[in-house]
Amino acid sequence: MASTLNAEERTKLIEGAFEAKKYSYSPYSKFPVGAALLANDGSIIKGANVENASYGGTICAERTAIVKAVSEGIREFIGLAVVTNVSSAISPCGICRQVIREFCPLDMPILLVPGDYPQPPPAPDSGYGEGGVKETTLGILLPDSFGPEHLELPRKS
Ligand SMILES: [Zn+2]
Repeated sequence: MASTLNAEERTKLIEGAFEAKKYSYSPYSKFPVGAALLANDGSIIKGANVENASYGGTICAERTAIVKAVSEGIREFIGLAVVTNVSSAISPCGICRQVIREFCPLDMPILLVPGDYPQPPPAPDSGYGEGGVKETTLGILLPDSFGPEHLELPRKS
């Protein structure tokens, strides 16, 4: 898998996701989530899940981070980390995958961080890396996806 993140960038992303999770507003699910985006200018944009008494108004941590960034003029990203309080890798939901798809390259690394990071060294070939982090990409999480470029294709009027 192509990873473009160095150790410093990974650390920034993982720490950012944990910091973001502190501000989760999740009284209903009691499932706090933190996300951190690394922009190509080196900045970290954090997001937490923000729930609503009208459940459909809830927004996930990943989308919070993306909307914060984009609404501040930041649109190019090179990494994402997500962390919950669960001691295994939790993936972005389907809606978030599509929103990530709008702004992030398919080969962008996505770090799924266990809530009890860092874990002891994982078994080789377990699919988990340093500290128990599962590293994946948007292309793996959302195969055969639809994106902005498809709206540019020639089509019948
Ligand atoms: Zn989501």
